[in-house]
Amino acid sequence: MAYDNENVFAKILRGELPNATVYEDESILAFNDIAPQMPVHVLVIPKRPYIDINDFSANGTIEEIGNFFAKVGEIARSLGLDEDGYRVVSNNGENAGQHVPHFHVHILGGRKIKEGGMARGM
Ligand code: AMP
Repeated sequence: MAYDNENVFAKILRGELPNATVYEDESILAFNDIAPQMPVHVLVIPKRPYIDINDFSANGTIEEIGNFFAKVGEIARSLGLDEDGYRVVSNNGENAGQHVPHFHVHILGGRKIKEGGMARGM
């Protein structure tokens, strides 16, 4: 499957759609989810065009992958989520219900997630 340049996050990265930026550097963008499922719901994406975690883990460099996840933790700490805890979720492909085919993780926090609660319907 080829990367779809017209996906929503590609448009955000090109500046064609607005976003509420939480963090940005040369390789990563983090922004508030447009339909938050939790008091804090931030999406973190690499700027390079990876479809999903399969693509990112297979084709990203170890440095890129390591940097990405280090930044996910840094962003969560900057949002004050580390003390009470938070969830990091990545939906990949059809079975997981991935809607936007640009690799992303969701950082979800700000309240307790009920036991067994998944990314949606919490
Ligand atoms: P997923 O279902 O894991 O692919 O998650 C995609 C997420 O992107 C959903 O939580 C959407 O609410 C969110 N989303 C879709 N469009 C936008 C947008 N323009 N800005 C911010 N978040 C968005």
